[in-house]
Amino acid sequence: MTNIVLASNNKKKIAELQTLLAKISEGLVNVQSLRDIGFTDDIIEDGTTFEENSLIKAGTPAKLGHIGIADDSGLAVDFLNGAPGIYSARYSGEGATDETNRAKLLCELDGIPAEQRTAHFVCTAALVLPENSGFTIPEEWRISPELSAASGIPQERAMVVRGECPGRILTEEHGEGGFGYDSLFYYEDYQQTFAEISGEDKNKVSHRGNAMREFTRRLAVIFSK
Ligand code: IMP
Repeated sequence: MTNIVLASNNKKKIAELQTLLAKISEGLVNVQSLRDIGFTDDIIEDGTTFEENSLIKAGTPAKLGHIGIADDSGLAVDFLNGAPGIYSARYSGEGATDETNRAKLLCELDGIPAEQRTAHFVCTAALVLPENSGFTIPEEWRISPELSAASGIPQERAMVVRGECPGRILTEEHGEGGFGYDSLFYYEDYQQTFAEISGEDKNKVSHRGNAMREFTRRLAVIFSK
């Protein structure tokens, strides 16, 4: 069994990924946390895109000789030229919470009509192999030369998968479930916000569900060799 390190200490994220991977190929990889490898520093996410930030995170265990994986996600609103984007978690500044972030978003879109309130959630998932890992990422899955230059990680050692989900930002909150911007994010096909549907239904169509399904499918191919 191959050990891979998820660059996060979020126990829920780790358990979720382990379950997804187990579904695809039982017992192929074991997901560890940064704490498991004794890494306790903060990782500075100073990339300019979701792809770069997930590579920065996944590259951290890889520098220490471990196989690294990480994700990054956020909301991109068309009228706001893609904001809050990579700043989604800290949109309303120092001490930001989900609630203050949603309030800021409503304020920024005040008076903007429904047809101009289109948005999409984005999730990227990255894999970075350490030097001489013995595993190979198929050529068609490797990161672009541009992303390699921006991240400083060789193309043959990294892969990033992007998942998206389109929707629209309402003028008031609907629903009690979910987190982040869910109660403002209206998903047309369900005619409900992401805070009104079950986690299971959200996962079927969400940016994270879409990214993770493809990412775990590829991990199963790479690590079955
Ligand atoms: P992170 O990838 O965990 O750092 O998430 C970044 C931020 O994007 C979160 O704090 C949320 O504000 C927002 N976000 C990402 N995914 C979702 C989602 O599925 N629903 C609502 N908000 C999300």
